[in-house]
Amino acid sequence: MKPLVTDRVGALAGYTPGEQPRGGRLIKLNTNENPYPPSGRIAEAVARAAGEGLELYPSAMADELRERAASHYGVRAEQVLAGNGSDEILSICLRACVDVGDRVAYTTPTYSLYRTLCEIAGAEVVEVPSRFCADLADTGARVCFVCNPNSPLGYGVPAAEIEALAGSVDGLVVSDEAYVDFGDTSAIGLVGKVPNLLVVRTFSKSFSLAGARLGLAFADAGLIAELAKVKDSYNVSRLAIAAGVAALDDHETMVSSVARVRATRERVAGRLREGGYDVPDSSANFLWVGCGDGARDLYQSLRQGGVLVRYFDAEGLRGGVRVTIGTDEHMDRFLELALAAR
Ligand SMILES: *Cc1c(COP(=O)(O)O)cnc(C)c1O
Repeated sequence: MKPLVTDRVGALAGYTPGEQPRGGRLIKLNTNENPYPPSGRIAEAVARAAGEGLELYPSAMADELRERAASHYGVRAEQVLAGNGSDEILSICLRACVDVGDRVAYTTPTYSLYRTLCEIAGAEVVEVPSRFCADLADTGARVCFVCNPNSPLGYGVPAAEIEALAGSVDGLVVSDEAYVDFGDTSAIGLVGKVPNLLVVRTFSKSFSLAGARLGLAFADAGLIAELAKVKDSYNVSRLAIAAGVAALDDHETMVSSVARVRATRERVAGRLREGGYDVPDSSANFLWVGCGDGARDLYQSLRQGGVLVRYFDAEGLRGGVRVTIGTDEHMDRFLELALAAR
C-alpha cells in the first residue's frame, strides 16, 4: 500500500515540545510557564461563560476579545486577530503567505517551531546564524521570523531594527513577542505604520494562561483580513475568549507577576555569574546558562536533584541550558544544584 500521508509529511521530524512530566515530582523550569497563577477573575469569567451559551459557536473573529485587545493596545479592532495560542497564528501566517518552495528566513538560534512550521508548509528554510535581524535583509524571504525577545538566548530586538528590516525586504516580517512583557522592546507601536509587519503576542507566558491556548496578532487591517481567510472558522472557544477578556481587564495581576519574575531573574543571574557561569542579560522569563561542554551533565545532575530545565541537542545550543524563572523557592533549589555542579 502507498503511504497514507504525503511524502512531505512522511519526511517530517515533527516538533519536539518540552517535556510535561505528570505527577508533579519535578520542579518544572523547562517550558517558560509563569510560576504564578493567573488573575482569579479569569476563573470566574470562564465559569460564567461555561454556564451560558456553550451550545452556540463563538464569534468567528472573537469580537469581544478583539475589541478589548484593540483598546488595551491602542490599535483598531480590525488590526487584531485572535488565535488558539500564538503557535496557531504563526501557522496561519505561513499558510497565508508562503507557497511550496518560497523562502522563510530567521536568525539562529531561535524558537525551534519555526523550522517545523516551514517544513509543514514546504517552504525553503534560510537559517542565518546571527543575533541581528538585519542579516535577514538579503535572503529573498517571503516571511522573516524575528523572535523578540529571542528564545533561548533572551536578548530583545529594538523596534528600530525590526522597522529597518521591514523596510528592506519584499515580504512579511513577523515579530514574535511571546516574552515581550518581561522586557521592553515591542514593535507593536509600528502596527498601522509598517504594512508588512505582523506582531504576535501570547497569553501563555506573562498572563499565566498557557493551558488556555490564546494568542493575538496585530497588523494592518488588510493583512489581518487575509490571514482570517485561512484560519479555522471558529478557532478560539467561548471559554478562551472569556479568559482573554478577563485577563486584559485585570492587567495589574500580570504586571505584578512579571515584576516578581524579573526581580528573581536578576537575582539568579547574579548568583550564577558569581558561580562562574556565563549568563547573558535576559529580557524574558528565562536565563541562558552557558557552561561549555558540561551542559548535558548539568542538565542531568539538575534532573537527578529534581529540577527539570531545557537542554537542546542542537547546533549552537550544546554549550548551555535554558532555565525558566520559577518561584524564589524553586530557584533556590536550582541554584543549590547548579552551583554544586560547577
Ligand atoms: C511559548 C512561545 C510561543 C507559543 O505560545 P502559545 O501562545 O502558547 O502557542 C510562540 N513563540 C515563542 C517564541 C514562544 O516561546
